[in-house]
Amino acid sequence: MLTEYISAEQCAHCRLCCHFRRNSAWETPALEPERARQLTERGIPLMQRREHPDANEHTTFALHYDGTDPAETAPCPLLTSTGCALPREQRPFECRIWPLRLMLSPTGLPSVALYNAGCSALMVPSDRSRLISFATGPFLPTLRRFAASFPPSIRPFHSDYIILCPLN
Ligand code: SF4
Repeated sequence: MLTEYISAEQCAHCRLCCHFRRNSAWETPALEPERARQLTERGIPLMQRREHPDANEHTTFALHYDGTDPAETAPCPLLTSTGCALPREQRPFECRIWPLRLMLSPTGLPSVALYNAGCSALMVPSDRSRLISFATGPFLPTLRRFAASFPPSIRPFHSDYIILCPLN
């Protein structure tokens, strides 16, 4: 979905967004109901999550950690040595829009946010600017529609992200 703006090769090499530290396990994608159903049928380990008391419960990947080290990372159960096991168009929406996210602003406004803590695909300033222009312009209606159809995709604010614009 965003391969015009970020390098698919760089993503395939890095795969940062498909590994989760214990304290970033909240980042595993919120799975659309149909996607969750398909993955359940394939035997992919899933779990229910509620991000804050007022939020709807939703389905996400269950991670497996070997030990108790807080710095340990666990891969998404769909990550293989050659990348994601799913074809691009079958990946969760949150994976397809990475490094963008739908997120509440610090004042609680549903917004478009950009990961700002070390995505290697965003290191080229001109690519980053083009992505921001796309996210806050032609892509905004798609993000708005998805947020309306699947409210758990709007995450609580996290300081690893910068808010780009309100969703509405
Ligand atoms: S579903 Fe695929 S793209 Fe998304 S986190 Fe898992 S391995 Fe990565």
